[in-house]
Amino acid sequence: MPSSLKLEKISKRFEIEYVLKDFNLDIAEGEFVAILGPSGCGKTTLLRIICGLEEPTIGKVFLDNHDITNDEPKERNIALVFQNYALYPHKSVYDNLSLNLKFSGFSKDVIQTKVNFIAKMLNIEGLLDRRPKSLSGGENQRVALGRAIIRNPKIFLFDEPLSNLDADLRIKMREELRSLHKELNTTMVYVTHDQIEAMSLGQKIVILKSGVIQQVGTPESIYNEPANRFVAEFIGYPKMNFFSPQIQDGKMFIGGQMINYPSTISIPKVDFQLGIRPRDIHILDGSISLEINSFDYQGNSWLINCSIGDHKIILQTTHSEHDQENINIDFDWDKVFFFDKNDGTLIKQ
Ligand code: ATP
Repeated sequence: MPSSLKLEKISKRFEIEYVLKDFNLDIAEGEFVAILGPSGCGKTTLLRIICGLEEPTIGKVFLDNHDITNDEPKERNIALVFQNYALYPHKSVYDNLSLNLKFSGFSKDVIQTKVNFIAKMLNIEGLLDRRPKSLSGGENQRVALGRAIIRNPKIFLFDEPLSNLDADLRIKMREELRSLHKELNTTMVYVTHDQIEAMSLGQKIVILKSGVIQQVGTPESIYNEPANRFVAEFIGYPKMNFFSPQIQDGKMFIGGQMINYPSTISIPKVDFQLGIRPRDIHILDGSISLEINSFDYQGNSWLINCSIGDHKIILQTTHSEHDQENINIDFDWDKVFFFDKNDGTLIKQ
C-alpha cells in the first residue's frame, strides 16, 4: 500500500525571512504531485523539510497519518533524487546501487538479486561495472533513480532531476518516470520550475510563489481556470497576453481602439486586467485591427508579434496566409479572463 503525506501549516524562516508560508497540502497514496514555481520560491526547502534535512519553523509533517516532524531522515524512509545525481564517483554502478543495502546488513545474494532486478527495470544491466564519470547524464540519472528505488522507500522526492539533460533525453526520461510511477505505484513529489514537465507528469500541480501556494489542481484545471494572474502567466506557452482596457460609458478600449464584446460578458466593477492566450485569438476577418511587427515560425504554427496602440500582443495560428503588415482579429470571448488589478485574483464571470 503506498503512503500518504500531509503537510500542515508549514512555515520556514531563515534568519529574518520566511521562505515558506503556511503551506498546507494533502498528498494521497500513490499520487504524483508536481510542485512548480520560479527559482527561489522555496521548492527545495520544502523537499528538505519532507525528508527531514531541514526543520520547519512552524507546522507538521505527517506520513501515513503519523507525525514525523521530529523524526531523523533515516527513520522516515523517504528517498530524494537530485539534479546532480549525487553518486559516488569512484565506485562502480553496482556498488552505487548496493551500498545502502550492504550497510543495512542484507546478504550478498539478496543484494545481487535486487541489483539485477532494478538494473533490468531501468535498462542499465550493461553498465554495472562502469563508474559514474564514464556514463552519460541520462545513464547517471537512471543509476541515481535505481539507488533510490532499491531502498523501497515510502515516498520519492525529486528535485529537478532532469535539468542537466538535453531536451530529447528529458522527454524520454519523463516518459520513463511516468511508467516507473505506474509500475511502482509509489507516492511521488516532483519539484520543477519547468511548466511543461509539471503539466506532463503531475496528476496534481501545486503552484508556488515566494513560499506561498497560489493554486492546487489538475493540469487541466490550472490551465483552464488559473486562480490569479501569476498562475495564468506562468502556465502556458506562449504566455498569455494581458491588457488594462479603458472603459468609457460601458465601451471597452485597448490601445485607442474600441473592442466589441458579446452581451454575455459583464465588465468587472473593479479595476481589472484582461487576459487571453495567443491561441485563443481568431485571426480571420475580425473587428480588431493590429499592426504586425514580426513572425516567428514554430514548425506546426506561427507566432505573430503585433501591436495595438502601445500594447504588444502575440497570436498563435496555423493559418499560413498572412498579410505582412496588418491583421484583423477577434478574441474568443469564452477564453477571455478578467483579473483584479489590485491583487491579481481571477474575477469569475
Ligand atoms: P531553485 O529552483 O533555484 O533551486 P527553490 O525554489 O528550490 O529554488 P530554495 O532552494 O528552497 O528555492 O530557496 C528558497 C529561498 O531560501 C532562497 O531565497 C534561498 O536563498 C533561501 N535559502 C535556502 N536555504 C537557505 C539557508 N540554509 N539559509 C538561508 N537562506 C536559505
